[in-house]
Amino acid sequence: MTEKIAISYTADQFLNSLRNVVGAEIIGLHEPIFNGNEIKYLTDAIESTYVSSTGPYIEKFEDKLKEYTGSKFVISVNSGTSGLHISLLLSGILENNEVIVPALTFAATANAVMYCGAVPNFVDCETESFGIDPDKLREYLTEIVEFKTGLPVNKFTKRRIGAIIVMHTFGHPSKIEEIIEVAHQFNLIVIEDAAESMGSFYSGKHTGTFGSMGVLSFNGNKTITTGGGGAILTDQANLAHRARHLSTTAKLPSKWEFIHDTVGFNYRMPNLNAALGLAQLEQLEYKIDRKRKLLEQYKVEFAKFPELHMMEEPSFARSNYWLQTIILPSSTSNLRDEILDLTNDSGIMTRPIWEPLSNLKHLSKFPKMDLSRVDEYKNRLINLPSNPKS
Ligand SMILES: *Cc1c(COP(=O)(O)O)cnc(C)c1O
Repeated sequence: MTEKIAISYTADQFLNSLRNVVGAEIIGLHEPIFNGNEIKYLTDAIESTYVSSTGPYIEKFEDKLKEYTGSKFVISVNSGTSGLHISLLLSGILENNEVIVPALTFAATANAVMYCGAVPNFVDCETESFGIDPDKLREYLTEIVEFKTGLPVNKFTKRRIGAIIVMHTFGHPSKIEEIIEVAHQFNLIVIEDAAESMGSFYSGKHTGTFGSMGVLSFNGNKTITTGGGGAILTDQANLAHRARHLSTTAKLPSKWEFIHDTVGFNYRMPNLNAALGLAQLEQLEYKIDRKRKLLEQYKVEFAKFPELHMMEEPSFARSNYWLQTIILPSSTSNLRDEILDLTNDSGIMTRPIWEPLSNLKHLSKFPKMDLSRVDEYKNRLINLPSNPKS
């Protein structure tokens, strides 16, 4: 692992290679592209006056998502984060419970845990998909879990462990089946943060449909967008019913009465956003096809430098290639920072992977396992512009 690899390129050469693929213009990491029925559907929604939390596009969008993902139920919401929050509440996560969370994920995964007053417990990744490592997870849970009346408790913190959130990094499916096997062994509910993996399949089954609930995001930087939005996927009718109820202010159906049976949330997706989403969803396969071609271009270009590798989909999966990722060798010293500085100064948006959540000041006091892989790889991954314009 500490083996030194001779570096055969400079940040300037890296920039040139990048330019050969993305062209001479200023380019963002993942700019949305609207070249289908977006304006037509949005105009229709506006003319109908149904722009808010009811309207026909919501059902159309949800039906299309059901068909595409194979999920029995789909509840559209106003963000991926709110979808995660609802999923955790419906998993019975209470104040002071622990939730197993990857250290390598976007802040929103842990935020949703914190909204419940619960505590994240951070776990390490494997290096094929950069999702949770099922073997390290099993070892860790074996070490920390004791069962009290059948429920898993962290014997060191005395807190109940209620669930695990599995995230599919940059759209690459995690080893979800193996992780679920471990989760079941320890009686943990599985929630999938599939915010990045719309259009990604594990063994032919859509990500987000393996856990008891899965959550998609349609933020502006994701593979397809509703402007802002998300969706909860589940096969369980009772969870679907309660997710819709909680995200709609927990109002009981009535012709004219305002009766709410608990604290609810205003988390529904507006019809306007669903109209945009429907048009985007119609183009999903085309977009993924373009992203896969972009990977081939990056691969050809960066093959000039034998120590650089483009991240590719795991053997067991079809990835949406939301974000293209280049993996640097372990001995890059400050070359990563030079590359990030130079490319961003030159109008090409590149980004490192997130700072591991366990390193963030407000989260650093929470429990975690040995995170040696995250530590090793956090300075080796760079995301490249990922949404081809044509
Ligand atoms: C984008 C993202 C989210 C949050 O989605 P929003 O729709 O922006 O709230 C959650 N988790 C991960 C891993 C994400 O990338």
